Amino acid sequence: MKYFGTNGIRGIPNDDLTTELSMTVGKAAATYFNSDTIAVAKDTRISGDMIMNAVISGVMSTGSNVKYLGVLPTPGLQYYCKKHKMPGIMITASHNPPEYNGIKCIDKDGTEISEDAEKSIENLIDNKKFKNVSWRMSGQIYIESNAIDEYINGIMSLVDVKKIREKRFKVAIDTGNGAAYFTSPYLLSKYNCHIVSLNSNPDGTFSSRNSEPKPENLGDLISLMKSGNFDIGIAHDGDADRCVFIDEHGNFIDGDKSLSLIVKYSVNSGDTVVTPVSSSDALSDICNEKKARLIKTKVGAPIVARTMIENKATIGGEENGGIIYGKHQYCRDGAMTLSLMLNLMASQGKKLSDLLNEIPDYTIIKSSMERKRNWDDIKNDILKIIKDKKIDETDGLKIYDDDGWVLIRPSGTEKIIRIYAESRNRKRAMELSDKYKAILNDLI
Ligand code: MG
Repeated sequence: MKYFGTNGIRGIPNDDLTTELSMTVGKAAATYFNSDTIAVAKDTRISGDMIMNAVISGVMSTGSNVKYLGVLPTPGLQYYCKKHKMPGIMITASHNPPEYNGIKCIDKDGTEISEDAEKSIENLIDNKKFKNVSWRMSGQIYIESNAIDEYINGIMSLVDVKKIREKRFKVAIDTGNGAAYFTSPYLLSKYNCHIVSLNSNPDGTFSSRNSEPKPENLGDLISLMKSGNFDIGIAHDGDADRCVFIDEHGNFIDGDKSLSLIVKYSVNSGDTVVTPVSSSDALSDICNEKKARLIKTKVGAPIVARTMIENKATIGGEENGGIIYGKHQYCRDGAMTLSLMLNLMASQGKKLSDLLNEIPDYTIIKSSMERKRNWDDIKNDILKIIKDKKIDETDGLKIYDDDGWVLIRPSGTEKIIRIYAESRNRKRAMELSDKYKAILNDLI
């Protein structure tokens, strides 16, 4: 049976994500990893202790010990796994609503496990073929209290801390009551920033805001930015692998733009950058300008990460604020992302809005519609209508139309079709979006 989705196992505790299933996943994952010790961490969700303890029981029944890291951003656990060459299990549902939780398995190199590994774990769950040891060999729990400092020091070693400290940046940060409630403000204090933090109390009900860092969920941070004299606003999702920014005037910065800006100041000629086909052409323009190679993949952070490893890429990322910095580790990391942004602001000595003005300005319009038919049939029908246009089939259909492009792809998690339309001209982006939505409407 399929238990893993695009980002680990997700569900509602005591409903489809039961303690029984969680313990079984713990047994199966530990049997698969076959490691002396497995690191375990969680985000701030109410059900975190319940799900985590069930997973840990399963792990220990196979004879593996547990290094318990406590509340940590997902990339914090990944960093620990990489550094100590130890597999890990993260209890998180990332940006999902508070009723959800999830289980994510991390390889001993710090990356998310491959689809093949997920299949192996799923087979173990279905066949109940778990390693089982005698009482004498039961695993033990060891509390690890140094993981936060190792993680923070690892990030700080990759930026010019002295220069950032000298600037004494005034920063507003909204950690959304999630896993970075302590780590990101702590990191900012190490950078000698003047910090005003919002929602930096751990609260598993996410009572202050929805956990997805989208502009409509960041009203408090945006008002704070508009009312104060801040250099930058920062927000994370629930497990802090993502990071988005607000400029000094209170404008939300599109993830494509912050990625382009960070790429501009982090890559050299000949470097490789990886991004999904859904990313803005602004990034292609920046890579051309910097003479860097740009590889476009299917949508999904694990695919971007794997492509980066295969191509020894410097940086990769998605439009949702997920940035992967190869020198640090091959996974999205919100605290690394905010450090790269402060680093470039310090080195350039310019306001964030001025730096963003240097990035080519494209308009990208995103929408979605219900998928009532099989995607392959819809795709074939579109191909019959669209003739003599350049088409890229990396993920769904990317159609290059006059002065822009449209990407039509089925969602991996929901029964919807996503439509992205981009042009340098706002009006043209709208026209492209409307044109292809009308075509899809007729076909669906
Ligand atoms: Mg996340």
